[in-house]
Amino acid sequence: MTGLSRRVYLLRARDLSPETIAVAFAKTSRSPEPFDQTAAELSDSKSAQFHEKWVVGYGHSSVAEHAVLHIAVENVSRLAIECIESNRLASFTEKSTRYQKWSSGAFVVPAEIAGGAAEKPFRDACEFLLAAYQHALEAVGGLARRRFPRLEGESDARWEGRIRSSYVDVCRYLLPAAVVANVGITINARALEHALRKMLSHPLMEVRAIGAEIKRAALAEVPTLVRYADENAYLRDTPERFRKASGGLGIPGANAEPAPRGWMKLIRSDPGSEDLALAAAGVRFCGWGFAESLIRIRNASAGQKRDLAGSVLQSLDDHDIPLRELEYVNYAFEALMDQGAYFEVKRHRMSSQTPGPLTCELGYLTPRWIDESGFRGEYDAAMRQTASAYQAVRREHGPEIAAYLVPNGFLRRLVLGMNLREAFHFCRLRSSESAHAAVRVLALQAAQQIRSAHPLLGAHLKTDEKIRWEELEKEFFC
Ligand SMILES: Cc1cc2nc3c(=O)[nH]c(=O)nc-3n(C[C@H](O)[C@H](O)[C@H](O)COP(=O)(O)OP(=O)(O)OC[C@H]3O[C@@H](n4cnc5c(N)ncnc54)[C@H](O)[C@@H]3O)c2cc1C
Repeated sequence: MTGLSRRVYLLRARDLSPETIAVAFAKTSRSPEPFDQTAAELSDSKSAQFHEKWVVGYGHSSVAEHAVLHIAVENVSRLAIECIESNRLASFTEKSTRYQKWSSGAFVVPAEIAGGAAEKPFRDACEFLLAAYQHALEAVGGLARRRFPRLEGESDARWEGRIRSSYVDVCRYLLPAAVVANVGITINARALEHALRKMLSHPLMEVRAIGAEIKRAALAEVPTLVRYADENAYLRDTPERFRKASGGLGIPGANAEPAPRGWMKLIRSDPGSEDLALAAAGVRFCGWGFAESLIRIRNASAGQKRDLAGSVLQSLDDHDIPLRELEYVNYAFEALMDQGAYFEVKRHRMSSQTPGPLTCELGYLTPRWIDESGFRGEYDAAMRQTASAYQAVRREHGPEIAAYLVPNGFLRRLVLGMNLREAFHFCRLRSSESAHAAVRVLALQAAQQIRSAHPLLGAHLKTDEKIRWEELEKEFFC
C-alpha cells in the first residue's frame, strides 16, 4: 500500500438525490477525489448540468445507471403490466394470481372504448367473467376443502393458507387481462428512459397514460435523465411496417399456419455448443487460446469430456449459479401455454422472449378440478361467451383492445430463447412442487429436451423429478 487506506461505504439515497449519486460516481473517471468529497461539492443544478453535457450530449449513458428509482404503480391492467415488465434491466413485484383474489369491478375499461357503444358489452363481459371466477372460487374451493380436510386443531386461517393456492391456481384461468393489479418497480434511469419510450409509443392508451404518469413522477427525482424520453417513431411504426412488408409471404403447399402441438418444443440448438462451453472453460482455467482449447476438447474421449463437464457442474447445489461459460450453449423453443403461465414465464429476464398476440383464437385449457367440482358447464359457457365478446370488440376496435377481454385460460404462443445457464435456473425453479402446474409442465419439458440435445452438460440439469410432466399434465388438466 502507498499510505492510502481502503474505504468502503454507502452513498445514501436518504442524503443525496439519485442524479447527484450518479455524478459522484461518474466523476471518478477523471478526478482522484474520494466519492463523498465529490458528492459534498455537488448541488442538484450542478448535477443536472453534468448530465446534460455527458449523458444527454456525449452519450455517456451508463452514468444514468447509478440513479435508481422505486416506482409504485397501482390499479393498472395486467395487460399494461406486460409492457411494463418487458423491461429486463429492472426488478418487479406484482399482485399474484396465486395468492390473492379479485372482486367484482376490479378491471380497467380501456379509454379507446369508454363512453362508446362498446363500453357496456365490454363491462358486461368482464363482470360475467368475474362472477364466474367468484362461483369457481366457491365450487373449486369446496372441492379443495374436501380433498385437503382441516387438520386437527387447525384454525380457519391456517387451513385456508394451506389449501388456497390449490384452488386459486385453478380459478385464475377465468381472469381477463383487464383485471387490475399493483406492481412495484425498481429501475435505473437509463433503463427507465427506454421503458418510457416503449410505453409512450405503445398502441394502448392506458400504457401511454401510465408512461406519462411515471415520467411525471420520475422527473421529480431525476429531472435531467428521463427528460428526453418521448414517443419514439421507430418503436411506434415498426409493427405496421413489418405487417405491410410481410403481406406477400406464403407457405408453399399450405393455406394456413399449422398450430404447434405440445407445450414447449425445442426448435433450435447447436449440437457442437457443449464443446464451446468446455473450450471457454479451458481459456478461463487453463489459459489456453480458444482455438487451441476447442481442438483439445474435440479430441477428448467421451470419458474425458464427462469428467470435464462434471468438474464444472457436479458440485452445484440448489443456490449456486453455474459458470458463465454455459451461456455459449443456446436454445430456442416454440411454446404454447396458457396466458396465466405466460405471465409467470415472462418474468425470466435472462431469456429472450417473443410472445404472439393475446387472442381467443388458439383455444383454452380446462383444469381438471373445474370438471371435478361440477363447474365445467359454467366454465365452458364463460369461455365461449368471452370468445364471442372478444371477436365483437376485435371487429370494431382491433386486436390490441380486444386482448383486454382474454381470460388467463386461453393459449398464447411464445418464442423463448435461453442459454444453458438460464435453463439451469428456469428448470430447477419452475419444476419445483411449489410452482404452478402449467409452468412445471413447461420446465420439465424444456429439461427433457435439453438433456436429449446436450447429454453431456444436460445430465447435470436439476429438476424436481417426483413427477413426470405427462403425469402432471394429466393430473392438472382435462
Ligand atoms: C414460489 C414463487 C412465488 C412467486 N411469487 C411472486 C409474486 O407474488 N409476485 C411477483 O411479482 N413475482 C413472484 N414470483 C416471481 C419471482 O419473483 C421472479 O420474478 C421469477 O421467479 C423470475 O425469477 P428470477 O428473477 O430469479 O429469474 P430471471 O429473471 O430469469 O433471472 C435469472 C437469474 O439472474 C439473476 N438476476 C436477474 N436479474 C437480476 C437483477 N436485477 N438483480 C440481481 N440478479 C438478477 C438472478 O440470479 C436470477 O436468478 C414468484 C416466484 C416463485 C418461484
